[in-house]
Amino acid sequence: MAEQIGFIGLGVMGLPMARNLRRAGYPLAVHDRAPGRARALIAAGATAAASARAAAAGSEVVVTMLPDGPDVEAVVLGPGGVLAGARPGTLLVEMSTIAPAVARRVAAEAARRGVRMLDAPVSGGAAGAAAGTLAIMVGGAAEDLARARPVLEVLGGTLAHCGASGAGQVAKACNQVAVAGILGVLAEALVLGARAGLAPEALIGLLQGGAARTRLLDLHGPALLARDFTPGFTVRLQRKDLRIALETGRGAGVPLPLTEPPEVHRGPLGVNRRLHRPAETLARNSIRPGLRRLSARRPRDDRAHRPGATWPGALHDLSPPPGRPPPLRPARAAAGNAGG
Ligand code: NAD
Repeated sequence: MAEQIGFIGLGVMGLPMARNLRRAGYPLAVHDRAPGRARALIAAGATAAASARAAAAGSEVVVTMLPDGPDVEAVVLGPGGVLAGARPGTLLVEMSTIAPAVARRVAAEAARRGVRMLDAPVSGGAAGAAAGTLAIMVGGAAEDLARARPVLEVLGGTLAHCGASGAGQVAKACNQVAVAGILGVLAEALVLGARAGLAPEALIGLLQGGAARTRLLDLHGPALLARDFTPGFTVRLQRKDLRIALETGRGAGVPLPLTEPPEVHRGPLGVNRRLHRPAETLARNSIRPGLRRLSARRPRDDRAHRPGATWPGALHDLSPPPGRPPPLRPARAAAGNAGG
């Protein structure tokens, strides 16, 4: 009989992850402070737990997937929390993206109560969570990872042991610095090309056929070309992740000039001049609504975002101006994967 898993936090990521564990045959006790979130899982055979404490009480392994450090501290350490219900020997797999220092503090408190903890943040988004192909970055003891491995292999396709407690969160901070930075410079490159007369689909094809090739354009290119700016990963979580990265950089004595760029702060890109926090500025520039603001000639005009509406102005902005040379065509080699 598989070990029972207590699963806490059934949001964008947690719900599909818990569903995969249920499908893999694990008995599940699930909890979210929004009671409706558990409904689909209960229909699939999971047990509803009224609190984090109840979810932990009968479980050998507890997984948490919560927004931020204060949520994790409340759910694990608080009254009615995981440590109030967990038996000694329980393994807590904390998969939220939180500050490394918070992860280490919670792990130390858990250890005092005989509960082992791994930090195991993920990359891959809701699609990776649904497909069970997340990249999982683990910090903690090797023997705890060995015990968690069968559970983590249901959730992820890549599993990396990064070091001691907190090391998984350091790896995730590095990942977020890279993702936000790449999205930011992609926005600049695409706007530069479009404003200087290149067709964006051709430009994406060329970028993806050359040294600048990136999976982020595979993921976001088709939506950009379709002018679909539906947010995926939220600005709130992106800001939180960059705050964690900047704090981690300060703690390690490492300046992160591209994550906290003063030139973006001052606004030479012509956007977000009213924002005063650099991390917020970059976060907003680094996701699709930010790309929309960067690529639209009239940033305050939101007519394109009414349901069913088209915005000829924005589409026109991305076409070559009259009298310019004809647009480049996508490179043959890249045509199949060029964001369209
Ligand atoms: P979410 O906001 O969709 O889900 C969080 C869930 O936690 C919600 O259902 C909320 O009700 C629940 N919750 C919050 N506080 C609670 C409490 N005290 N008790 C019980 N339940 C509580 O967030 P998400 O997108 O699923 O992200 C979860 C974590 O994963 C975050 O740390 C995020 O940064 C990280 N992450 C998200 C993505 C993504 O694409 N969404 C990708 C990688 C990593």
